[in-house]
Amino acid sequence: MGPTKPELSFEVFPPSSPAGTIKLTQTLTQLKGITPSFVSVTCSNHQLDYEQNTIALAQTIRQDLRCPTMVHMPAAYVTKAQVRRILAQLETAHIDQVLALRGDLDGTAPESDFAHASDLARFIKQVNPHFRVTGACYPEVHPDSQNRVDDVRHLKTKVDAGCDQLITQLFYDNAQFYRFQEACALAGITVPILAGIMPITNRQQALHVVQNCAASLPPKFVAILDKYRTNPVALREAGLAYAVDQIVDLVTHDVAGVHLYTLNQAATAQHIYDNTASLFAPVAVDD
Ligand code: FAD
Repeated sequence: MGPTKPELSFEVFPPSSPAGTIKLTQTLTQLKGITPSFVSVTCSNHQLDYEQNTIALAQTIRQDLRCPTMVHMPAAYVTKAQVRRILAQLETAHIDQVLALRGDLDGTAPESDFAHASDLARFIKQVNPHFRVTGACYPEVHPDSQNRVDDVRHLKTKVDAGCDQLITQLFYDNAQFYRFQEACALAGITVPILAGIMPITNRQQALHVVQNCAASLPPKFVAILDKYRTNPVALREAGLAYAVDQIVDLVTHDVAGVHLYTLNQAATAQHIYDNTASLFAPVAVDD
């Protein structure tokens, strides 16, 4: 066991429908009794959505949960002038954490001041060094990269540009994460790497993950999907148990932290918390 306990943090996304808002409200109400070390709020590619959704939601969480919040920021969709304005807005709202991303390129990206997430990380630190900047990373290699060596080399550039910590893309095979940690250590990347975990709770979500993420699926995981093909209740229970098992293994291997992709599902966050809380460092609530 390492000297300190890891941290547990959550990701939520701004809802895009009335039903989504109800689901998120339930999640936030439930999170009130949980106190994660921080909650991160995702962004879409559109600036209008960004200010009205991502920042507004991060402010609400900061105020209601009295919990540190982190906003995701898509480099490919913001200009330097916009970043300056957003950082000032965040400072006023007492939000001092940014996940500096490139953003997904879907063909709608305008002319940007930033080619890579590292350019945004560097710019944020230049504008205001007090911001805590996080970067994204990929235990199974980012799809745009030719190979792991290039990907980790670019990651080192991103950390050197100012990332204080990293959060991984979701993965289901812990062995992939441990190999990635080793590659990072060899490349001289020493900042904390938080493991991104997305519990599988229904078949549709599982198929979406399988189709859209390059995550390896261990035989035990595939067996759950096969066995409970027609039993959603059992699939959910087995998916949550799988995630808890993954987290226990990560913590026993001294992971720096676990970032839970909640998909705004209160029951998922609650289940994971109830079954792993004592593994994580207790969190002091902000005044
Ligand atoms: P980068 O770090 O810029 O890397 C992208 C690719 O470019 C990689 O292949 C990298 O190796 C390569 N690269 C980097 N630097 C260089 C260089 N100098 N020269 C050549 N190649 C280089 N997307 C959203 O739209 N909204 C979100 O809220 C969101 N949240 C996310 C949260 C997490 C934890 C993660 C892991 C991803 C998230 N994403 C989100 C997805 C992310 O935007 C995409 O994966 C995107 O394709 C890459 O973003 P990045 O920040 O990793 O980019």
